Amino acid sequence: AQLILDLENTIENIPDFPKPGIQFKDITPIFLNPKLYEDVIADLANFSRGKVDAVCGIESRGYLFGIAVAVALEVPFVLIRKAGKLPPPFVGVKYDLEYGSAEIEMRTGQIKPGQRILIHDDLLATGGTTEAAARLVEKQGATVSQFSFLIGLQDLHGEERLRQFDADVYTILDYK
Ligand code: 5GP
Repeated sequence: AQLILDLENTIENIPDFPKPGIQFKDITPIFLNPKLYEDVIADLANFSRGKVDAVCGIESRGYLFGIAVAVALEVPFVLIRKAGKLPPPFVGVKYDLEYGSAEIEMRTGQIKPGQRILIHDDLLATGGTTEAAARLVEKQGATVSQFSFLIGLQDLHGEERLRQFDADVYTILDYK
């Protein structure tokens, strides 16, 4: 569709960033084009309309689209942050990275038990970050119903990793 073509033409591929061998997808040019931004939000909102009670966005690029999607759907938006940034009370989940580990956190009580949650981020790579976000949601008694991303890196098999959650996964644009 037109949206996929527009995104393909807008997202910049930066070779060897932040490390040699990595093809970094830079989404920042999307914000130079308000019409394209609107189209992205409409497409993501369309995927989730009527299916979720709240949107959780992953720091920080997950906020750039996640908040606008939540507003379009007229549901709450909840921030998932890297450890050490939120005031108490909060809940956290630790997860493994390629080297070492990391932790993400969310304010306690901002999502409610039984809610159907959309977890949103800009890009799905290995799915490690998103998987941790889903555990954080489940820890509070809510259900992950959907995951959405602008970009999916198919070779890294993030979608397969997310299958354990029995939720719909949507990526607007896929790269091999
Ligand atoms: P994963 O945990 O799925 O391996 O990595 C996904 C996370 O890393 C997302 O939060 C995403 O923002 C970030 N990320 C990894 N590679 C890229 C990239 O090429 N472009 C952008 N914009 N984000 C990336």
